[in-house]
Amino acid sequence: MTTIDEFNKIIEIMYDEGYVLVHLSDIAKIVKTADGASQMTFQPIYLPKGKTPFVLSVDDVSYYEYMLNTGFATKLVIGEDGKITCEKAIYEGAANNLKRDENGAPIVQSVEYGAFDVVPLLDAFVEAHPDFSYHGAKGTIALTGYNGVLGYRTSDIAYGAGDPNWPGAYEYLNVNLEADKAEAKRVADAMKAEGWKFASHTWGHMDMSTVVTSSGNELNGKIQGDRFKRDTEWWMREVSPIIGPTDIIIFAFGADIGTWRTYNYFGENEAFMYLKSLGFDYYCNVDSSKHHWVQLSATEGGDGYLRMARRNLDGQLMFKTMVYEKFYTEDQKKQKNILSDLFDPKVVFDRTRPLPVPGVVYPEGADLYSIFN
Ligand SMILES: [Zn+2]
Repeated sequence: MTTIDEFNKIIEIMYDEGYVLVHLSDIAKIVKTADGASQMTFQPIYLPKGKTPFVLSVDDVSYYEYMLNTGFATKLVIGEDGKITCEKAIYEGAANNLKRDENGAPIVQSVEYGAFDVVPLLDAFVEAHPDFSYHGAKGTIALTGYNGVLGYRTSDIAYGAGDPNWPGAYEYLNVNLEADKAEAKRVADAMKAEGWKFASHTWGHMDMSTVVTSSGNELNGKIQGDRFKRDTEWWMREVSPIIGPTDIIIFAFGADIGTWRTYNYFGENEAFMYLKSLGFDYYCNVDSSKHHWVQLSATEGGDGYLRMARRNLDGQLMFKTMVYEKFYTEDQKKQKNILSDLFDPKVVFDRTRPLPVPGVVYPEGADLYSIFN
């Protein structure tokens, strides 16, 4: 994650350096060929010289249960001015011990509204800098389903009838389930009108690489067990009706269903063919080891796909970058996933973050605060 302050700085730097928001569908889309077939085809993007198109995506805009009372926003709502804003509710009790009503729902103590997350922050930035957006493009929001969407507890499995096949939590009975679905749809529609798109992030934040098989040490996408299809069906049933049809899947954990080779390189990749049959044409993983990575297949699965690696501009990678820049040699730096080719994390990193950022290796005994010098 990034803090609000970090996000604003990153966007400002990217704008100053000539980056422009586009959608995946601006890069390539499925078009009819002369012989009447259709295939995924790169599209021209018309930008002034010196501009660089980029795709912004944000995962898990669900305001998960675990995030309540920890300083995060709790919901996206339509403000009085018709614009999308954030609701930040404070609940009774501590984050790990919320007080609950007779149905098990957390009890709201107070509510405030404001730009506490990416959507209203970016909307405001593009309003002030319209040339930051190509044809009105904003970001793509990748949603799971197990805690509902956009802060609305819309899942029947977690908040309604339940499902014996869901190994996660049955959260509580949401007595406003149907009203919340309708309200979430209203918000999603308003976001789409503002240039946002939606993607699947799997229903249960599932690591899809673990439910397909490998040949040697390369994933070949043969579906293993029934979790893969069940999760996908749940997403189609619970999330798709709210956000509308989408052709984008942004894998949870960045965990792809194949290697860097095209999906059907080892014969038919079952997982890909299944997702493709449901209308998924754009596939995104995570890879920060290169400036960018895009793969287009014009015909696989019928009319092909576009695949793009994403770079995670989060606290971990910023901290890791500073650690490597401070303590590691040029040679070591070359092999690591760092983001110094994009911006200087020393300028962006929120100094109120506690150090070290978890999950990053650094030299034993190092003076961590020296990374800022
Ligand atoms: Zn995620």
